[in-house]
Amino acid sequence: MARKSTAFVTVDFDKPGKQSGFIHIPHSPHDDAWGTTRIPVAVIKNGEGPTAILQGGNHGDEYEGPIVLGEMVRELDPGAVQGRVILLPAINVAAVEAGRRTSPVDGLNMNRTYPGDPGGTITQQTSAFVNDVIYPIGDAFLDLHSGGSSLDILPSAIIEPAADPDHHKRNAAAVLAFGAPLTVVVDNLGERRTSTAASVAAGLTTVGTEMGGGGTVSLEALKICRRGARNVLAHLGILEASPNQPAAADRPVLTIPGPPGYVFASANGVFEGFHPLGTEVRAGQEAGRVHHLGDPSRPPEILHYAADGILYGRRQPGRVVSGNCCLVIAAPYEGQLP
Ligand code: CA
Repeated sequence: MARKSTAFVTVDFDKPGKQSGFIHIPHSPHDDAWGTTRIPVAVIKNGEGPTAILQGGNHGDEYEGPIVLGEMVRELDPGAVQGRVILLPAINVAAVEAGRRTSPVDGLNMNRTYPGDPGGTITQQTSAFVNDVIYPIGDAFLDLHSGGSSLDILPSAIIEPAADPDHHKRNAAAVLAFGAPLTVVVDNLGERRTSTAASVAAGLTTVGTEMGGGGTVSLEALKICRRGARNVLAHLGILEASPNQPAAADRPVLTIPGPPGYVFASANGVFEGFHPLGTEVRAGQEAGRVHHLGDPSRPPEILHYAADGILYGRRQPGRVVSGNCCLVIAAPYEGQLP
């Protein structure tokens, strides 16, 4: 590791069998002089094979990933594993305990901190540890997201684009193996500071998800997520293939068509979206309106879609301020797939 970190772990990543412990990040606030932030980690290793890193709780208000990975910590039998599984069910543990997207300790969105900073705040130190210590021992990375408190998103598996065409196909094959009802290529407008962008930069086969949201636990998304995480491990040869793995070929692959894929609030007020998720919409069509509830004689502001596609994500809280993301469109993906 080129960058010095004071973090330490209570598991041995090379030891066979199942271990459950913590990554400790020394943290010294007012009420705890020499304490640590304890991030749960489990390692399940058996024989020779690839290493998969499965992460949840990057955003602390997205619950399907942490629930499913917690089940795997408790239930996955080392004898069923060929290779190694590293489970990080609550990576941004302070955000997970608070049920918030961002860390209540330093206010940071972990998914905008990569490659992190081993001399930075808790969240920056955590992403630096993942980037510098965990990614280099991995072959594949699965980052389980949902829509969070502010968005409800159609349950989907996410392809993080890779510049190298072979790497891109490797990512797409693993994402299709997840077996979500939808597959979506998401580049977050070219954002390089996400965990999946950093995992791609580290050369790992990378899989993301968006599972429902609205700050709730969706039973349907939980089922998809539970099956999908195991499907990816089977795809990598770490677990036996599940007999009910759905065929990948007949499921649509979509992408968010850049800035026109997003509908942002044009004013402060209360947003009324006109369509349910999954609706086919067209550029120029009315998408919703922002009401001025304290000034009823003032007409609401009308928002319009700027792209053709299906309604993929929808803001959950009614109250908006100018610039909030209200709606997200996904359109057919034209790029290369395996
Ligand atoms: Ca998220």
